[in-house]
Amino acid sequence: MNYEKKGLGMAVFASHSALQLVLGGMEQGVRTALFGPEDRLELYRRFPALSCELVRYAGTETLDGLADEGFVLVPNGSVVEYVRPENLFRTKIKVFGSRALLGIEADQRRKMELLRKAGIPTPKEFSTPWLVDRPVIVKFPGARGGMDYEVTDDPQRISDLQIWALERRIVKGPSEVMIQEYLIGTTVYAHYFHSPIHNRTEITGFDIRYESDVDGLRRAPVSIAMRRSPTFTVVGNIPVFPRERLLETFLEYGERFVETVKREAGGKFAGPFCLECVVDSGLNVFAFEFSGRIVAGTNVYSVHGSPYLALYFGRPMTVGERVALELKTAAETGSLDEVLT
Ligand code: AMP
Repeated sequence: MNYEKKGLGMAVFASHSALQLVLGGMEQGVRTALFGPEDRLELYRRFPALSCELVRYAGTETLDGLADEGFVLVPNGSVVEYVRPENLFRTKIKVFGSRALLGIEADQRRKMELLRKAGIPTPKEFSTPWLVDRPVIVKFPGARGGMDYEVTDDPQRISDLQIWALERRIVKGPSEVMIQEYLIGTTVYAHYFHSPIHNRTEITGFDIRYESDVDGLRRAPVSIAMRRSPTFTVVGNIPVFPRERLLETFLEYGERFVETVKREAGGKFAGPFCLECVVDSGLNVFAFEFSGRIVAGTNVYSVHGSPYLALYFGRPMTVGERVALELKTAAETGSLDEVLT
């Protein structure tokens, strides 16, 4: 790769947490290229203080070209959705973090299995609608931002949803529709950064997602809300500061997650990740999913930086800057191999 000749750069899909990563790169003097379809790039041309290259995405050749220019890919949620994890194995660009983990993230079953292997409590799963004995959330594959999910305790309705998904070719078989216990509690999305350079897993913050229409239904008259099964389309994110005693549990889960990823998915891991959790009234923490890369929830700290990162670096820092700092330090110390796959 051309890091020495051209200088290291971060290639980021133009969406999701792109603004935060560009600003973080600018803070650390690491250049950034945003790539995406032309209509996505337009937005970023409107911000004059943003310093980055804009590159039209035309398939994996675009990523190969960026690799030749010294860029490494910093994956965000839009890469998982738009480029697809299988295509990441067809390009020579190096990935900051774990390429293998992105493949697991895209597969609902393997994803939950990894969490269970890490010894992190997860919601119960049902193999068929006819065994369901409690409220469940019916999930369809792909990072679709909670689109079309439904909460129900009616086996017939679940069976109808499986047929609906089959007819629309959202799934190839009914078993691809996940029937997962609907946890009663508050959602808390825990953000982490694993640093091979410092050999530690840092907590970088927490958010809750603001979802339509489940959050909006709270404002609707009860008589109307009760007749609707809520949807979970993510609209934005809100910061949350969990009780301090919960930090220990979150840290332990994060560290166990990293150990399990190293064991099960290719030996290496670096960078941001997230455990999507529900905390119940007994303060038990369950993870119902994970993201093996930066989550948009970290954008809640993109202006003033995360106060949790101040606990490691003495000043608040955004996750975008944290990524740039790790890459820069790895390049300076000849350790890029530890953070790239
Ligand atoms: P996901 O696509 O899995 O992140 O789910 C979208 C949204 O559905 C989440 O942000 C939660 O609000 C909700 N959700 C997902 N799974 C569960 C669960 N097992 N129990 C309660 N809420 C859930």
